[in-house]
Amino acid sequence: MGDYDIAIIGAGLGGVYAMHRFTSQGWSVVGLEGASDVGGVWYHNRYPGARVDLDSLDYCYSFSEDVWRSWQWRERYAAQPELLGYLNSVADRLDVRRHFHFETWLNAATWDPARRRYDLTTADGRRLSCRFLVLTTGQLSAARKPGFPGLDRFRGRWVMTSHWPQDEVETAGKRIAVIGTGSSGVQTISTLASEAEHLYVFQRTANYAVPAQNRPLDGMVQKELGDRLPVEREQLLTDTAGGVRIPEPQHPMSHYPTAERDAMLVSQWETGGQGMNSVFLDQGRDPQVNDIVADFVRDRIRGTVRDPAMAEALCPTYPIGTRRLCLEIGYYDAFNQDNVSLVDLRDDPIVEITETGLRTRDHHHEVDLIVFALGFDAFTGAIDGANIRNGQGITPTDRWRSGPRTRLGMMTAGFPNLFLPTGPGSPSVLGNLFLQNEYSIDWIADCIAHLDEKRYASIEASEAGEAEWTAHVAQLAQGLLRLGIDNYMVHVSDDGSRTFIPYIGGVRRHVASMREAAAGNYAGFDLR
Ligand code: NAP
Repeated sequence: MGDYDIAIIGAGLGGVYAMHRFTSQGWSVVGLEGASDVGGVWYHNRYPGARVDLDSLDYCYSFSEDVWRSWQWRERYAAQPELLGYLNSVADRLDVRRHFHFETWLNAATWDPARRRYDLTTADGRRLSCRFLVLTTGQLSAARKPGFPGLDRFRGRWVMTSHWPQDEVETAGKRIAVIGTGSSGVQTISTLASEAEHLYVFQRTANYAVPAQNRPLDGMVQKELGDRLPVEREQLLTDTAGGVRIPEPQHPMSHYPTAERDAMLVSQWETGGQGMNSVFLDQGRDPQVNDIVADFVRDRIRGTVRDPAMAEALCPTYPIGTRRLCLEIGYYDAFNQDNVSLVDLRDDPIVEITETGLRTRDHHHEVDLIVFALGFDAFTGAIDGANIRNGQGITPTDRWRSGPRTRLGMMTAGFPNLFLPTGPGSPSVLGNLFLQNEYSIDWIADCIAHLDEKRYASIEASEAGEAEWTAHVAQLAQGLLRLGIDNYMVHVSDDGSRTFIPYIGGVRRHVASMREAAAGNYAGFDLR
């Protein structure tokens, strides 16, 4: 397939931008994508009800006024078809599609220290090489596959939300089981409830879901934002935690009289969205403060779900915001329908899948369709899937037994010219991935231009630079309630020690650190 300056793996929102940015710079660039088209997460997650849980006006590209004006967002939270349409439209506008090889899986990438290049092979045996390897594979892309005994003998159909089939999946009038109640489960349950003859929700852990308060968007708001796009964008980069326009907490809860505190919670409930995670400055660290916010949400669940036992089973017991908050549109209402049952797996675990349904310890549920919404092998799954090896034959995650180690969430020591934009140690899943991909890829482009100008062949995180950033990431995470709760953002080592994987310092501090490193001749990196 040839020798390139840069290979980009993945044609999702990061890959599309990376292809545009790098080809604009005049480098030879190739993209590999396993799917048959662009879109990444929005290509694969086409399950009924799939929708973004950040505001559409934040969750889109902001690097170009032309691109901004080319698309009119219809809803506060865009649904998957609109997001996929947007990514296709941008890919056409930027003319990046022709540089990607679709239905092409990367099988292995091996660094050759003598040639200072990665040699890549694809699953169908083709070979290519590149100086720089950029993984825009996303952090939530490698699916957690169902491993339930008996699945192979099930005579109905089964699907995964994370890789929803392209062909029609018949749901109307079917008996459907959904296993998993994270963001994907919550969204698809809410939609399938109105289509299924009967819907069985298999819940292992109840999660918090707050109203999305979705609504049609006023085109004028988007136009006005577009008129001051560069200023708005710089403000998101330098003055926000998540790269989104969500008001940030100003004071600890104790600052407010009780009536004002309660009014703030009601107001946030009515506003909708992820802001329920950050009403008070100390709710992520102080269990008593957190409990007041959590109780507010639990009371709303009890006020919505009419069956008290079911309501109780749907009430989460962990601190709110310590796992990703789900946004809901009719989720709890669905449990008031006669055709929706909740199977609480804590009381009655799944034993096996049979020819006709699912057997829990105490019951057998006959179904036509099983929907697995089991989540992802987050952060490391896609890196491992790429099978990248350095000159010593080890993979990036071989060195991460006690938690991911990176410099700025961008590179890991021992792997020259391998970039992991939005990787572990960056804000990543805690914020706006469009914006983070843009600034990370801009940083990579500037970095490669710098290497070329100064005639360096390679860059990698230095051991000291990596150790410093990894310690900083861990230090900021100390005392977070979420560090103590099992979820995909926490790495648990064999010795039981826990590492919070993303960077809790926020976009503003991350961008400042990235800019500082670049201005300081890539401090914390070895240039050779
Ligand atoms: P998730 O949050 O990891 O949820 C996975 C669910 O599957 C959990 O309820 C989990 O239960 C359950 N599960 C896993 N293995 C199981 C087993 N063996 N038996 C029974 N239950 C099992 O995954 P997700 O819902 O796909 O969401 C992942 C992330 O993707 C979200 O947090 C969000 O960042 C992103 N996402 C965003 C959107 C959006 O923008 N609206 C939509 C979907 C996803 P336990 O909790 O007990 O482990």
